[in-house]
Amino acid sequence: MKINRVKGTYDVLPEESSKWQQLEQAIRDLTKVYDFLEIRTPMMEYSDVFHRENDLSDMVTKETYDFLDRSNRKLTLRPEGTAGVIRSYVEHKLYAEQSLKKVYYIGPNFRYERPQKGRYRQFSQFGIEAIGSSDPMIDAEVIMLSYDFINKLGLKDVKVRLNSLGDKLSREAYQSALKAHFEPHRKTLCSDCQVRIDKNPLRILDCKVDAKHEAVLHAPTPIQYLNESSKAYFDQVIKYLDAADISYELAPRLVRGLDYYSHTVFEVEAKIEGFGAQNVLGGGGRYENLVEELGGPQTPGIGVAFGMERLLMAIEMENPSWFNQHHLDVYIIQFNDALKKEAVKIAHDLRAQGIKTNMNYLNRSFKAQLKEALRFNAKHMIFLGEDEYKKGYVAIKNSETEVQENIKIEEIVSYLSKTIYGEEL
Ligand code: AMP
Repeated sequence: MKINRVKGTYDVLPEESSKWQQLEQAIRDLTKVYDFLEIRTPMMEYSDVFHRENDLSDMVTKETYDFLDRSNRKLTLRPEGTAGVIRSYVEHKLYAEQSLKKVYYIGPNFRYERPQKGRYRQFSQFGIEAIGSSDPMIDAEVIMLSYDFINKLGLKDVKVRLNSLGDKLSREAYQSALKAHFEPHRKTLCSDCQVRIDKNPLRILDCKVDAKHEAVLHAPTPIQYLNESSKAYFDQVIKYLDAADISYELAPRLVRGLDYYSHTVFEVEAKIEGFGAQNVLGGGGRYENLVEELGGPQTPGIGVAFGMERLLMAIEMENPSWFNQHHLDVYIIQFNDALKKEAVKIAHDLRAQGIKTNMNYLNRSFKAQLKEALRFNAKHMIFLGEDEYKKGYVAIKNSETEVQENIKIEEIVSYLSKTIYGEEL
């Protein structure tokens, strides 16, 4: 019986996985210089971690994979990274250290969304969280890291879009203004937005159905309702970004999809052909109450998350040479089966020195082996012929220079180490 993959999921095939590894390495290098440490939390959590009273986002109300385990516990596959990280932060009382915790994560999330290009039901995110400071400097740092990240990947046509929702009071004032603004349009909004008017009108600005509705396009913006301290906060963030020469644009109607944001919110957008609406590579913002909602002391945080699949697609389209090509240091070509034992030994000796070696395991002809060596991008080929071997040497050819030399069997490893690493053993 043939069974296909689950709808909305994908396989990373062997030829693709090195791209993932390379992207992950870039993330590890970047987070290291910013001094963020990795946190790994489970893919499933008790449902309450995500289904919190105040969260009315689509992601939480409509898209989670909720299930009962065999002991009837209510569990949820994580739809995003932040809530699990905060659950862990609270559970391990990391707040007790009273210092800023800077963490990052890479891993899969699950959302029951309509699958399309750049949108999956299992997808991976790279995210960071900085928990424990309400200094605008850290907002700027998270945005700076995001900006550096995208530049490091060689993505040029990228925008950082920035907005502020302000503190609780500013947000409440803004929500009332939105309610008053949308009320006269209630009947022409989608059924979800009709509920949102009463429960959380900010969500209307994020609605996919009503995105082009006149009332949405002309809605008041949060900036108009920032009180003095919120405005001063936002000005500081901008001041730090300017000091570090980060380019951004102000996005007056950006509110972001999750419900827990306050103050700074931002998105990183790529303008890449064929992406359609899926051109948002990542987004994030500040949250004030999440730690408290999950049982910890009132502690502010700020984070951002990027979709790994979209990043890979963007690199593929804009800067494919960023990916390392698959290559081998050495491919061993056997002239006949009699020398298989010798080939096995040479390969083992080379690999012991960290030299990336492969050979033929399918009894292929000389010609077919040569073809495979080229396909594998082998930098060197060892020609293992019976007559030469009996005389105590093999021929080694450098694929780039096409120079071929006869090398004594006992000198194969040192010869190749020298050409590959530039030094003798
Ligand atoms: P969010 O957690 O919704 O703010 O999403 C942050 C980033 O994750 C988005 O900008 C996308 O790059 C990525 N993302 C979100 N949902 C999906 C999905 N269903 N499939 C692929 N990537 C996604």
